[in-house]
Amino acid sequence: MDKSPRKTARALVPALICLIMAAGIPGCRFPAGHNAFTPQEQRIIRQSDSVMYVTVLPEDSTILRATVQDLPDALLRSEDFKTLAAKMLATVQSPEQDGVGIAAPQVGISRRLAWVQRYDKPGEPWELYPNIRILERSGAVSHDPEGCLSVPPQRAVVPRYGTVIVSWTDPQTLQERRDTVHGYTAVIFQHECDHMEGTVCTDRADSVSVNEAWAAERAAFLEKGAYRKPAWWE
Ligand SMILES: [Zn+2]
Repeated sequence: MDKSPRKTARALVPALICLIMAAGIPGCRFPAGHNAFTPQEQRIIRQSDSVMYVTVLPEDSTILRATVQDLPDALLRSEDFKTLAAKMLATVQSPEQDGVGIAAPQVGISRRLAWVQRYDKPGEPWELYPNIRILERSGAVSHDPEGCLSVPPQRAVVPRYGTVIVSWTDPQTLQERRDTVHGYTAVIFQHECDHMEGTVCTDRADSVSVNEAWAAERAAFLEKGAYRKPAWWE
């Protein structure tokens, strides 16, 4: 949907005008979202602590319900992108979050970007997936409980396919890559890719209940000052 030829053609016109103007007018920039992070994105990326504020429903529904934009090559090469990636990883690995995957809308950035812990690989490494998409879903559908850092402390039983083929932009080479993923890791990819369309696991759930252990854990971290939205956040 976001790659329709009409939309691409519309986006090219201001970019071309800006290219022409850039030669003579200092400060000329590409349209926001095309080759630069927006001022709001820059503020979140640069001013956040290493553990970022994680958006939650219903409070942050504007960002969590939006469809994201792709990350063009110019953004993937930027220092802001490296900072965002590092802070997202620190956030999902922090004791107060302790997730298995995180999507950019969960830190207030409406971009197609996620970290996924690859439980299907030796050492269970964390991997970064810019422009992540699911190309194919197949295999038996499972109905297992999952939770979302943005919908705490809910436990949702969600139907998920056993196998997915994913594509993404390699953050080093900027080339498109593909992989076929099975089992629990395939569930994580399906969960994180849902975030790119403004969908969370409770939307798809057969049933939703409260995860009491998670509720108690969060209450303890809340007492220590975790999960606070920064004063500068809009
Ligand atoms: Zn989630």
